[in-house]
Amino acid sequence: MSRLSPSSESSEHGCRGGASPRQRNARTLTYGENVSDFSPASDLRPWQRTAAGAGLLAADGTIAATIFAEMSALALATGAINLGQGFPDEDGPAEVLEAARKAIADGVNQYPPGLGMPVLRQAIAEHQRRWYGLEVDAASEVLVTAGATEALAATLLALVDTGDEVVTFEPYYDAYAALVARAGGVHRTVPLRWPDWRPDHDELRRAVTDRTRVILVNSPHNPTGAVLDTETLRLLVELADRHDAIIVTDEVYEHLSWGAPHIPIATLPGARERTISISSGGKTFSTTGWKIGWLTAPAPLVTAVLAVKQYLTFVNGAPFQPAIAAGLALPDAVFTDAAAALRHRRDVLAAGLEAAGFTVSLPQSGYFLVADAAPPGAADGAAFCRELPDRAGVVGVPVSAFVHPDRQATYRSLVRFAFCKRLEVLEEASRRLASVIEEHRAKRDR
Ligand code: PMP
Ligand code: GLN
Repeated sequence: MSRLSPSSESSEHGCRGGASPRQRNARTLTYGENVSDFSPASDLRPWQRTAAGAGLLAADGTIAATIFAEMSALALATGAINLGQGFPDEDGPAEVLEAARKAIADGVNQYPPGLGMPVLRQAIAEHQRRWYGLEVDAASEVLVTAGATEALAATLLALVDTGDEVVTFEPYYDAYAALVARAGGVHRTVPLRWPDWRPDHDELRRAVTDRTRVILVNSPHNPTGAVLDTETLRLLVELADRHDAIIVTDEVYEHLSWGAPHIPIATLPGARERTISISSGGKTFSTTGWKIGWLTAPAPLVTAVLAVKQYLTFVNGAPFQPAIAAGLALPDAVFTDAAAALRHRRDVLAAGLEAAGFTVSLPQSGYFLVADAAPPGAADGAAFCRELPDRAGVVGVPVSAFVHPDRQATYRSLVRFAFCKRLEVLEEASRRLASVIEEHRAKRDR
């Protein structure tokens, strides 16, 4: 199955994998205006629920790879420029790479401690103090994980029980939907609307109830690059407090912002005691393949997450842990220069897309921008992304991959492009994308 043709919410799937043909993939209910719930059918097998959560379970029971794996494979197969999966095509700071080489040479090659190596836990605590004024106890309030992905997985599996509601914005990072579904939770979403992606506060108020176990916030946001304003962050804390929910905040793009300085939700009054803050070295140091992530939280929450995490990977990445610690200790300019360079890349790609007829939502942060492909004639972003490698030698990702079936129509013509690539690659991609508008005009004028 292609991820680009997601199964409909009501489609039935076959027996492959042991499922009954009568089962349905998912149930979507809409509450009031624009707050919607998604949960896979309860009679699906656990792995099918996981796939169905992320829209990867086909009507015939087959399970697709994630959109990122699919589009990277397509880029490889066609030789197209990969602006799909978010990974840089250049190495990060030399000090970080050298520290990993040194750690391997020095024999740091066996299991690290379950919570993570003390040098990294110290560096994370120091990072929280230095950048945000947050005092975190390195011994009990920091947990090192296999990327932010494992931190998210262990957290949601630790906290979310059958029927518990998890509130996120939509579009959302795909792992959220898969993990909530695996945990048996209900994924309740509040839309972010093109082109400024600001949430409606009344919708947010309606979404959070006493059934909400977790409010999962992602700011800076993937796929839109939006940054939540302080007023929204405050409202989230107020709602979490009122309904006794845990805030889980995914801040992997914390250093890749060029607007106002990043505000971790844990710094707001009343937030810290109920917040699990997740980040990763992958984005900050251009080491996405190392998978060194972490979370900081009050000790009882760390204990809860660790109970699950220690049976997922137990531990990971021994020599990379001191290397990321070295990275976290680098001077401020390393962080701010990387963000400034990324901002320039954003502008180059945005200009290229605009010249090719797309309307662009300019992000304040992160690796990605979202463009509307409707003006240059592509009303269906998924179909467009499927054709684009052949048409123009470029790969993007449809925003429909980040939403549940009931919201496909809203985001249909939108495409996410990654700009965390070398300038010459973005310039070449821009040249290639120009063919999109030329073809559109030629067709129109025929
Ligand atoms: N959260 C978000 C919002 C992401 O974009 C990503 C992917 N880069 C992750 C989590 C996963 O991070 P990691 O690679 O550290 O597991
Ligand atoms: N976070 C990356 C993205 O959004 C991809 C990570 C992955 O491949 N799962 O492109």
